[in-house]
Amino acid sequence: MGRYTGPVCRLCRREGEKLFLKGNRCTSPKCPLAKRAYAPGQHGSARIKLSNYGVQLREKQKVKRMYGVMEKQFRLYFHTASKTKGVTGKVLLQLLERRLDNVIFRLGLGVSRAQARQLVRHNFVWVNSRRVNIPSFLVGQDDIIEVKPKERSKEKIKEILEQSKERGVPSWLEFASQDLKARVTRLPEKSDITSTIQEQLIVELYSK
Ligand code: SF4
Repeated sequence: MGRYTGPVCRLCRREGEKLFLKGNRCTSPKCPLAKRAYAPGQHGSARIKLSNYGVQLREKQKVKRMYGVMEKQFRLYFHTASKTKGVTGKVLLQLLERRLDNVIFRLGLGVSRAQARQLVRHNFVWVNSRRVNIPSFLVGQDDIIEVKPKERSKEKIKEILEQSKERGVPSWLEFASQDLKARVTRLPEKSDITSTIQEQLIVELYSK
């Protein structure tokens, strides 16, 4: 599946909130959203009252951009969630959280999901002792995720871990940082996600 390769700060400005797409720069005063807190483009600073549809659409776009997922794949996630037993919005978030690139990001092995994705693509990651280089791979309960032994001592990995340590690791992942090995202790819940996501709006949008 493809990915967005354009300027990412524009995406935050469009959504009017920090999506943390650029790692450490996002927490620095250099974040463009701090200086220009309005949408990009010629009419970006105009005040527009969004319709219900507009609000739902923006929420969907925000979540898609946060997880670095394109429309087609996002729709597929929604389709899977709607066919799965449980509350559709919650299952949708769970599917997004279970993506391997997101798990690597949550473990602090990437300062952003884009960097975590690169680590996966470059064969740094093993799941259950086998190489997995597909960022959209979905982890399951009791899966073991680790950095390939040959790459563990790399200075770059240590640097990334150091830069991401303040974020912490969510409780559904048990991480032994010295071995760079983690276990999925349970599936993620909405309460594990710190971002402000109103998944019900996405469900309403796709259910029209
Ligand atoms: Fe978004 Fe980060 Fe760019 Fe700020 S620095 S606008 S949070 S991607």
